Amino acid sequence: MSLDFTTWSCPLPLRDYPNVVIGHGGGGKLTAELIHHLFAPAFGDEALRQLGDAAVLALDGVRLAISTDSFVVRPLFFPGGSIGELAVNGTVNDLAMMGARPLYLTAGFIVEEGLPLSQLGAIVERMAAAARAAGVRVVAGDTKVVDKGHGDGVFINTTGVGLIPNGVRIGPDRARPGDCVLINGFIGDHGMAIMSVREGLQFETTIASDTAPLHDLVAAMLDVAPGAIHALRDPTRGGLAAALNEIAVASQVGIQIDERALPVHPDVQAACDLLGMDPIYVANEGKLVAFVAEEAAEAVLARMRAHPLGQGAAMIGRVVAQPAGLVTARTAIGGTRVIPMPLGEQLPRIC
Ligand code: MG
Repeated sequence: MSLDFTTWSCPLPLRDYPNVVIGHGGGGKLTAELIHHLFAPAFGDEALRQLGDAAVLALDGVRLAISTDSFVVRPLFFPGGSIGELAVNGTVNDLAMMGARPLYLTAGFIVEEGLPLSQLGAIVERMAAAARAAGVRVVAGDTKVVDKGHGDGVFINTTGVGLIPNGVRIGPDRARPGDCVLINGFIGDHGMAIMSVREGLQFETTIASDTAPLHDLVAAMLDVAPGAIHALRDPTRGGLAAALNEIAVASQVGIQIDERALPVHPDVQAACDLLGMDPIYVANEGKLVAFVAEEAAEAVLARMRAHPLGQGAAMIGRVVAQPAGLVTARTAIGGTRVIPMPLGEQLPRIC
């Protein structure tokens, strides 16, 4: 079979890169370009084009959420977790960001020849524990082994299926002017936990990943005001900055945040200062940003703070009508700066 590229309408090249660069996997502009110009036109599916954390599919009167995620983090073990917890919690959280109750996971393993079985066993044990803690069943799997030197220990893919309760309508395009922007705690912990291991940085306390399943927190928030939670996103690769920019574009609204209101752990701030990074661009694995109708925001915030995964919750900003698609921050000294979408990820292989 020969391929006829003359009929191919994909508007390549993408930013003049003839080949894939590491930033194409960073969750920023480069990833978005791959999705918009290559994947979405090729598959052309209505559900895919919604660009939610999970696809929402109506089926016989119920709405299913389906999401898939691959995990390539290096190192495999780090303070606060391992690739095993990430592989469960990452997919659980993408389902939770649509308001779904996660039910089932599949797990695909691409293992490099030579990986000690003891390490694979430890990772799988941690995955199983994370699945039990999240209340999801791992119901199907796959194992492939690649030659030594053609992998990096192990890569894991998980696909998740969840059920969206009746009456819950959450989507990246549903943030409205006037909405309050809430976050459930300290930002940047996961990225800096990985980075301090890679760079051998020592701090007064060990910076630990925040990896955690967020669906129970989401359910608690929905209990307070089901119709008032308009949009949710887990700020993983690209950090809070990428998540806010995605919602601003999808909802065609402006987002104004107050930098002084951002919860940042002092050790994380110190690590960022050392490495020349901004915590707003650093990955999280147990955080959500919520866009909540103003009249319900205080009650939702109080409920978040009463939950173990929301004790550090804060109101960090507002949704405004203009300029649509733009995220700005009021700085500590009273100025205003634009928070652009990152191009790639400053820390590759973070999840
Ligand atoms: Mg997500």
